[in-house]
Amino acid sequence: MTTQPSPAEPSDLAARAAEKHVVVVGGGIGGLVAARECAKVGMRVTVLEAADVLGGAIRRVDLDGITVDAGAESYATRGGLVRALVEELDLADRIVVPQAGGAWLAGIPGVGAAPLPAGGILGIPANPFQDDVRRIIGWSGVWRAYLDRVRPPLTIGHQLSLGKLVASRMGAKVRDRLVAPVTTGVYSASPTTSTSTSQRRDSTPH
Ligand SMILES: Cc1cc2nc3c(=O)[nH]c(=O)nc-3n(C[C@H](O)[C@H](O)[C@H](O)COP(=O)(O)OP(=O)(O)OC[C@H]3O[C@@H](n4cnc5c(N)ncnc54)[C@H](O)[C@@H]3O)c2cc1C
Repeated sequence: MTTQPSPAEPSDLAARAAEKHVVVVGGGIGGLVAARECAKVGMRVTVLEAADVLGGAIRRVDLDGITVDAGAESYATRGGLVRALVEELDLADRIVVPQAGGAWLAGIPGVGAAPLPAGGILGIPANPFQDDVRRIIGWSGVWRAYLDRVRPPLTIGHQLSLGKLVASRMGAKVRDRLVAPVTTGVYSASPTTSTSTSQRRDSTPH
């Protein structure tokens, strides 16, 4: 007969955590949150950051005397996780609530600017027949995007380029008028040139 190990006592867990030394590489928000979680349970934590300041893509810069956000300036309110973290950090009174106008897409070829359609991911529409999508890609774009629904998902294969994947599944109008304004606006990356790390590594000349 085997004996089941008895559940560890909280004091044992705390003692075991105190024996650990965790090294977090990168002091962006991801690294800082990870470091904090480890520190909260009593682990010793060292954060290694290559830059002079912590924060990574979340930073502020001084432009001709005006302080502006150079990276993230908003967070998803769905789920309440970020809000809970902000409250835990005692920063809730520093939240600036944006105007309720919603996000817009700018630089859409042939359209200019338009409200970001509701739903979807990275500009990829959840439903191409929505009015706010149709206004941007037109009926020809809508029907081309609809083809995605009638093609089997397994034909996607191992495509690593977002631009190629979106264009092949939903057409060039979705790529150029919906996805490109989002990726260039948020990530400074064109969907047609951005590739995954592994693809970039593969294409490095030897
Ligand atoms: C212009 C812009 C606007 C954005 N707006 C929003 C927004 O409004 N809302 C939102 O939710 N998200 C937004 N994002 C995305 C969001 O900012 C990022 O997803 C998030 O900050 C990434 O955090 P991270 O810790 O994963 O990476 P990073 O912030 O990139 O941090 C990585 C850190 O690791 C360091 N590092 C890397 N390699 C090493 C190494 N070998 N040794 C030591 N240190 C190293 C880097 O110097 C950096 O500080 C925006 C991004 C950009 C660029």
